[in-house]
Amino acid sequence: MSTDKRHRIIILGGGFGGLYAALKLEKTLARDPDVEVMLVNRENFFLFTPMLHEVAASDLDITHIVNPVRKLLRRVSFFDGDVESIDLPGKRVVVSHGTEHHHHEFTYDQLVLALGSITNFYNLPRLEERALTMKSLGDAIYLRNWLIANLEEADFECTAGKRDVLLTCVVAGGGFAGVETIGAVNDFLREAIPFYSHLTVGLLRVVLVHPGAVILPELGEKLGRFAQKKLGERGVEIRVNTRVSQVFDDRVELNDGTVIKTNTLVWTAGTSPNPLLADLPCKKERGRLLVNEFLEVPDWPGVWALGDCALVPDGKTDTFYPTTAQHALREGKAVARNLMAAIRGGRKKPFVFSTLGQLAAIGRRTGVANIMGINFSGFIAWWLWRTIYLSKLPRFEKKLRVGLDWTLDVLFSKDLVQFVTVRAPHISRSEEEESRPSNGAPAAAEKETA
Ligand SMILES: Cc1cc2nc3c(=O)[nH]c(=O)nc-3n(C[C@H](O)[C@H](O)[C@H](O)COP(=O)(O)OP(=O)(O)OC[C@H]3O[C@@H](n4cnc5c(N)ncnc54)[C@H](O)[C@@H]3O)c2cc1C
Repeated sequence: MSTDKRHRIIILGGGFGGLYAALKLEKTLARDPDVEVMLVNRENFFLFTPMLHEVAASDLDITHIVNPVRKLLRRVSFFDGDVESIDLPGKRVVVSHGTEHHHHEFTYDQLVLALGSITNFYNLPRLEERALTMKSLGDAIYLRNWLIANLEEADFECTAGKRDVLLTCVVAGGGFAGVETIGAVNDFLREAIPFYSHLTVGLLRVVLVHPGAVILPELGEKLGRFAQKKLGERGVEIRVNTRVSQVFDDRVELNDGTVIKTNTLVWTAGTSPNPLLADLPCKKERGRLLVNEFLEVPDWPGVWALGDCALVPDGKTDTFYPTTAQHALREGKAVARNLMAAIRGGRKKPFVFSTLGQLAAIGRRTGVANIMGINFSGFIAWWLWRTIYLSKLPRFEKKLRVGLDWTLDVLFSKDLVQFVTVRAPHISRSEEEESRPSNGAPAAAEKETA
């Protein structure tokens, strides 16, 4: 048991909400010798999700959109591990880490819950096992590898009968993540095909399945229709008012009876709050924690929640703030300010923020955006997307790396290298022992090379 008497703030989750709370505390409370601030996150980096589709489509190098937490925080301590359980009455959390997943228990005085959301598969049979997702850096790398593996396999005569399965990509969900993913993947596949001598662009099929009448509903009908038209011109099939109803190894069935032969289904059609919140004895709505205007969890003094895992009231509209990075980031800063008021004394301030705008890149230097109520589309929206998100990406080093990637993209075609993480072939100790002659002498091959 720790004898440390410092006031301990623990932030769970190092995404947009948690990290920006920690960054604000880094400059304020974490300087105070009586206060200890610790951030817990599953990965040792901060992922900039708005650029994730560019990693999946080989526009950006895999490490350029992530920032190591340890380079962002000095005074706030960092624990790279998994939150296993949260005990609000006991004011403690259990986290695990290391290759053996051993456990640590930490007590807290203040707890910030910023654990985000997970993909929701709506209990559709086989969906979770079969679908690819777009939530983490690993997801983007996996999708990229998957697409390249399909191209490699399809290029040979032996797969001529199942080329449609290998060369069809279905994305389910016409929100930001789905539309940006399909736009980028479509460009990637079309640019890659000329390097495969047995394949032609005509063999490709890229399908977006969306349950609503128009894609990108957050941006309004006009921009949604523009995005549909542009994607359609570039060969993407858009199926609106449609849902995925069944999933198999080599096909996807839609609720209008259409069967699409494919082994690639990218599922961006639903999220649900982090399951760790399910057992917490707090008020929730659809799994998200209800907080007050100060981002405090009612009935639990010292517990705060924000971002995708919280329902934050918007006093101006009598609804709740949307779950976006720009809101989570501001909520993170607001929690940090209110924590200061709670610990040092002072007035807490309610969280108030007006959405600045929303932007989506839909491929081939085209975008759609609504900024301060004004609609932009085409090249200008794409340019705004790049400029605004580049300015938001933390740290100059990463901005420069992404900027260089984008510049080099003008000169060179997209990379087709797979990021293979399996170890190179090697001989294990047991195999080595088996290959030794019974007198214990080294095997012949070993003798020869000695
Ligand atoms: C592909 C994609 C594109 C997007 N594009 C945009 C966009 O263009 N603009 C925009 O505004 N928003 C965008 N969003 C939404 C935005 O990313 C989220 O709204 C935002 O990240 C929410 O912030 P958060 O802090 O609540 O959660 P997150 O950023 O998801 O952070 C949660 C953190 O908690 C960690 N965590 C979860 N469980 C555990 C555990 N048990 N133990 C330890 N750590 C844990 C996770 O690893 C993660 O680091 C996009 C999302 C996705 C997936």
